[in-house]
Amino acid sequence: MKVIPSICPYCGCGCALTFKIKDSEIEVLHNPEDEVSKGKPCVKGLTCAEPIFVERIKNPMIRRSKQAKFKEVSWTEALEFIRKEIEKYSGEEIAITGSGELTNEDNYVIQKFARTVLHTNNIDTTARLCHAPTLYALYQSFGITTSPNFLEDIGECDCVLLVGTNPRSNYPVAFNRLMDAKYKRGAKIISVQTIFNLTSEYSDLAICLKPNTEVALFNCILNYLIEFDLIEEKVKRIENFERLKQTVSSYTLERTSYICGLEKEILQRICEMIGSAEKFGIMHGMGLTQHIFGVENVLSLLNLAIAKNAYLLSLRGKVNIQGAGDMGCFPNLQDFWSKEDINRLQQLWGVELPKRIGKTLTETFISDPVKFYYIIAMDPAKSLPYLNEVHRNLNRMFIVLQHHYTTYTMKFANVLLPSCSLLEKEGTITNAEGRVRYVRRVISPLHSSMQDWKILVSLAQLLEVEKIFPYEEEIDIFEEITEVIPSYRHLRAKEIYSGFDGFTQKAPKFFRFNPVEFRGFEETTDRKFNFMLITARQPYHFCTGEATLRSKTLKKFLDKGFCYLNPFDARDLGILDGDLIELESRAGKLKAQVKIDPRVTQGIVVAPFFDDELLVNKLIPLSFDPHTKTPNYKNVAVRIRKLSKRK
Ligand code: SF4
Repeated sequence: MKVIPSICPYCGCGCALTFKIKDSEIEVLHNPEDEVSKGKPCVKGLTCAEPIFVERIKNPMIRRSKQAKFKEVSWTEALEFIRKEIEKYSGEEIAITGSGELTNEDNYVIQKFARTVLHTNNIDTTARLCHAPTLYALYQSFGITTSPNFLEDIGECDCVLLVGTNPRSNYPVAFNRLMDAKYKRGAKIISVQTIFNLTSEYSDLAICLKPNTEVALFNCILNYLIEFDLIEEKVKRIENFERLKQTVSSYTLERTSYICGLEKEILQRICEMIGSAEKFGIMHGMGLTQHIFGVENVLSLLNLAIAKNAYLLSLRGKVNIQGAGDMGCFPNLQDFWSKEDINRLQQLWGVELPKRIGKTLTETFISDPVKFYYIIAMDPAKSLPYLNEVHRNLNRMFIVLQHHYTTYTMKFANVLLPSCSLLEKEGTITNAEGRVRYVRRVISPLHSSMQDWKILVSLAQLLEVEKIFPYEEEIDIFEEITEVIPSYRHLRAKEIYSGFDGFTQKAPKFFRFNPVEFRGFEETTDRKFNFMLITARQPYHFCTGEATLRSKTLKKFLDKGFCYLNPFDARDLGILDGDLIELESRAGKLKAQVKIDPRVTQGIVVAPFFDDELLVNKLIPLSFDPHTKTPNYKNVAVRIRKLSKRK
C-alpha cells in the first residue's frame, strides 16, 4: 500500500488530503497536519477519487467534420492533424484557454504557447465568468490581484460580513473558520444575500436585499461610519477619502432602505455592528461579481474594507483559478503587470509579444468569435452565458478539446485529446489565499492521458519551436515561473517541491478609495418576465459537475438539477413540488422540474448549472460588466409557466 499526500482538485480552499492506494483502489482521508482544512475537509474532497475512473477520454480522437463519428488515432496523428489546422489561421483567428483545474505549470506553458507559438493574446480562463471583477477591483484599490488576507484571519474576527457567498455549501473549510470566529470568539456574522442560503442559518443577522443593490448598502455603511466618526484618523489621509465622503453622503438610512428593500432599523443595526467591530472580516463571492456592475460592486466593498481596516477574503471557485491568473492566463498582461515586468518576460523568453489586444472568453466564444479554439479543461458549452449563441458559434469553429472527462462540449469538437486529472499530475496550485502548494502524483496517468503541458510541448516540437520550452519535468517550469511571474519571484522551487507551502507576494502596494455610485437595477421585471432568476451552485456538485456527477456518493445526495421556488409563489402559480415548468427569459427558454424551498425570496427563482439536462445558462442574456466582460448570471428576468404535474 502507498500513502501519498496531495491536494483536493475542487474548490479554491485547496485542502491537503491523504491518498491511500492499494491495488487499483484509492482511499481518500483527511490530512490532520493540513493548515488549510485543519484535518476537516468536506465530503467533496473525501470522495474526489471516485470520478477519475469514470467515462474518460481514453485516446486521442479526430473527426473531419462535425457530423462524422470520432476515430481513435495515435498521439502523433492527432497532433499532426492539429498542426496542419493551426497553420491555416492567424493569431487573431485563434484562441486558447487556461483553467483553474490545471496546475500552475500547465497554465504557465499554455500562456507561453499562446503568446509565442500561436502569436495571440486571446487567452483566458473561467475567472472571466466569476471573479475577474474582483481582480480588477483589487488592483485598483491595493495594486495586487490576490486577497490581501488569509483564511486564518477570519477565525480571529469579532464581526464578519458575508456578501454574495455561501461558504457552508461552496467553501466548507472557509465556513469552518467562520464558525471558529463565531463559537470561539463570539463573533457576529452578518449575511447579506439576495436569497437565504445554508450559511444564512448560521448568521446572527441574515438579510436579503433587492438584487444588485449592494453598492447602495456599502455606501450607506460608509456614510454612517464617517458621520459618527467610527474610522481611524489615518484612514482620512488615504487617497480619494474626501471624494468618497462626498459620494456616500447622500446614502442616508432612509434612501438606502428604499433602494435595497430593507427596513431602516435593520440597516441601522448592520451599521452599528460593523461600526463597533474591532476586528472586522469580509468574505465575498460571485453573488457580488456576476453582474454588469461587478467591478463597481467590488470596488465599493473594498472601500468599506479599507475604511474599517478589514480582513478581506475573496472566495475563488476552482482550486487553481488564482494561480491560472497569476501565470498570465488573461488577454492583456498590461492590465495587471508593469511595463518592466512585461519587458523582463520578453527578454527571458527571447521573443516579442503579440501587439494586438487580446479578447476575453466571452468575446472569443460569443460576441467576436474566433475560427480555431483550443479548449483546455473547460466545458464552455455549459458554463458560458447566452448558450444558444455559444452552441451556434462552437459549431462553426474548429475545436480542439483537451480534457480528462467526456464533457458536453465534446459534441462540438473536431479533436479530443486525453489529459490527466489533477490526481495524475505533478506540479503546484495556488489557492484563494495565495498559498502555493505542491501537488504530488497520486496515480500514474490513466489510459493514454498526458499532462497538459506535455501535450503542448509535443505540439511545439511538431511546429519546430520546441526550444522555447526547454523543460524535462515540472520543477523546471516552476523554476522559470519564479524568474518570470512578478508575485512568485521570492519563491524557491526546491522548497515548494519538497512540500513546504509558500505564499505569493500579496501585501497591498497602496490603499486607494474608488468612490462609486449606485447606478440602478441591471435588469428589471415586467408584466411578462415577472420573476428574477439567480444561478447558484449546489453543496454536492462542483461547478459544471463533470467530476462530481461521476461520484457515486455525491450522486446519492443529488443527481439532478431543479429550479427552486418560494412556497407562496408556487401556490400563486398553482405549482406543486416536482411539477414541470417552462422558464423563459429574453435570451431563451427551457424546461425544469420544481422544488419548493422557503429559503428562496418571493419573486426569485434559483437554478443550478451542473446538470446537462438543465442548461440554465441558455437563459442568461448577453449583458456584461463593461470593464471585465463578466456576465450577469445573478439577475435575469424570466417568466414561469406550469407545464405538467409531477409524475
Ligand atoms: S473545502 Fe474545497 S478544497 Fe477543501 S476538501 Fe472541500 S472541496 Fe476540497
